[in-house]
Amino acid sequence: MNVLRKRIGVLGGGQLGRMLIEESMRLNLHFNILDADLNCSCSTLANHFIHGKLTDEAKIRELAAISDVLTYEIEHVNTEALLLLEKEGMQIIPSPRILQLIQDKGLQKQFFKENKIPGSKFILVEHAGEWKTAIKNLGSKQVVAKTRIGGYDGKGVAILNSEAIINGTVKIPFDVPCVLEEFIVCSKELAVIVARDDKGNTVSYPAIEMEFDPEANLVTVLLSPARVGSIIEEQAEETARNVVDAFNGIGLFAVELFLDETGSVFVNEVAPRPHNSGHHTIEACYTSQYEQLARILLGLPLGSTEQVQAAGMVNLLGPEGFSGSYQFENLDRISKIPGVFIHLYAKAESRPMRKMGHVSILAPTIDEVVEKANYIRQHLRIVRGN
Ligand code: ADP
Repeated sequence: MNVLRKRIGVLGGGQLGRMLIEESMRLNLHFNILDADLNCSCSTLANHFIHGKLTDEAKIRELAAISDVLTYEIEHVNTEALLLLEKEGMQIIPSPRILQLIQDKGLQKQFFKENKIPGSKFILVEHAGEWKTAIKNLGSKQVVAKTRIGGYDGKGVAILNSEAIINGTVKIPFDVPCVLEEFIVCSKELAVIVARDDKGNTVSYPAIEMEFDPEANLVTVLLSPARVGSIIEEQAEETARNVVDAFNGIGLFAVELFLDETGSVFVNEVAPRPHNSGHHTIEACYTSQYEQLARILLGLPLGSTEQVQAAGMVNLLGPEGFSGSYQFENLDRISKIPGVFIHLYAKAESRPMRKMGHVSILAPTIDEVVEKANYIRQHLRIVRGN
């Protein structure tokens, strides 16, 4: 078979799938996309679109039947169905075995502990009745509570004062199985994207640093390379590669890391797919994260992750206050700036804090990237459409 006409089936048709298609067009691939939203970001780009839920086994089988290899761009899918398909011989990258581990934050934390991956101290609880004793045993001033299953983009995560929970002045937010973990005082949040092929070859991208919107818990500005010294940079990349080696994973993995005040690096969590923190690689690196995944899906050699210039990325988020049709304000002004790359995700409706697009930025120095990012954040706005 001509590898360059391999049929790729993707569970999920959001912006990550859209950029995977955009970046793979040069390789003449065929994309089958499954999504529940007829107007999703991939609907007009897919060679073949299947309308259905990512939890619907019949629809997943329909996708598998017309694809040579499956991947996913979101974690909330029917993993049981994928595990069965894999058993029957379907190639799925990354393996649903890893997805199953990652979908449960408790299993993920236990895996890190067993494999000596540095992470925050934690205790697993089944229900609210176990919280007080667990928090006493953790012994940290603040605790981060995470529902084991179903959370994303900060939903299902609460940062709490330990004392307030123990003496009952703050209500226990979740009565479902949770991970309670020690709060790490971060000087920076970092991420490293790692690609690993079926021969165990591994490449990693330079560590990036993220800034978060504290309310929505979404990344607002991302900078690459992270402004950390070379020792921390190496430590971050090595830790991230160790995680992916421990998974024995094939595919693309985004490893989210915390850098604490003493200069130690801890793994927070892993996403087994292209990631928001790698959008800039489209313009900034020899091989983008999306092309890298396409190469792995095709069985081609991994590409160079070398970065050509300092880079940044600003997410364009739907504003508070309205849901519905929208337009971008000042796109013309932003388009005039050299080294600025606008990506619009073609979503039918804006919703508060929804990811509607992003802007990647290149410049000779990281300070100039920051300057451009600030200008873009001030001027490029999403407003109600006509
Ligand atoms: P999600 O999967 O919803 O993105 P995360 O586990 O990434 O949830 O947590 C969301 C955010 O909460 C992190 O990006 C970080 O800012 C903060 N956080 C999570 N765990 C800790 C921790 N142990 N110490 C300090 N901050 C944390």
